[in-house]
Amino acid sequence: MEESPLPLPAGPPGIVLRSYSGSTFRFDPGALCLELLPTGGPGEFQRFEVLHAPGDLTDWAARSRLTPTPLLEVSDAEVADARRLRDALFRVTTARAHDAPADPADVATVNAAAAHAPLVPAVGPDGERSWAGTADGTRLLATVARDAVELLTGPFAHRIRACSAGDCALIYVDTSRPGRRRWCSMEHCGNRHKVRTLRARRSEEG
Ligand SMILES: [Zn+2]
Repeated sequence: MEESPLPLPAGPPGIVLRSYSGSTFRFDPGALCLELLPTGGPGEFQRFEVLHAPGDLTDWAARSRLTPTPLLEVSDAEVADARRLRDALFRVTTARAHDAPADPADVATVNAAAAHAPLVPAVGPDGERSWAGTADGTRLLATVARDAVELLTGPFAHRIRACSAGDCALIYVDTSRPGRRRWCSMEHCGNRHKVRTLRARRSEEG
C-alpha cells in the first residue's frame, strides 16, 4: 500500500517584506487584516503601493496567512475597494496603537466591507481544508474586514501596537503571553536597535 504523503508543514506565519536597504525579512503582524497594511497606505505611504491590478490582490492573498490560497477572480473595482479598506484599516489600527480615537468614516468603511459574504470554508475532495468554489475580491475583503472586527473587539485589542522604531510604521498585535513584543521583527528593527545600542556603548567605552 502506498503511503500518502504528509501535508507539507505550513511555513512560518507572516509575510516577507523588503526593507529600504534591500534586505528581506519576515514580518508576522499576528492577524490576517494586519497583513494587508504593508501593501501601501494613505498619505506618505502611497509610494509603497503594490495593489495596482487584480493580480496584485490575488498575489497578496497567496502570501497571506489564508490557508490554502483561495481561488479568486478579482475586478479592477475590487482592487480599488482593497486599497480603500487597507487605508481605513491602516488609520484605525494606528489610532488604536496610539490610544487615539478612530475616524468614524474609517470604521464605517471596515464595517461595510465586513457586511458582505466572506470566503466560505469547505472540505476538499481528499478531506483537506479548502475554500468553496472561486470567490470574488469582495468575499476576500469581507474575510479581511471580519478579521479586523474580531481583532478590534477581541481579547487582544489592547495589544495592537506600532513598532517601537521611530522610523517604522508597521502595526502588529502582540499575542505573546508576556506581551512584551516591541518590534515588527527581531530580524529587522529589533536588530537595528541592537546594533545602535552596541555602537552607543562602544563609543561610551571608547
Ligand atoms: Zn519595525
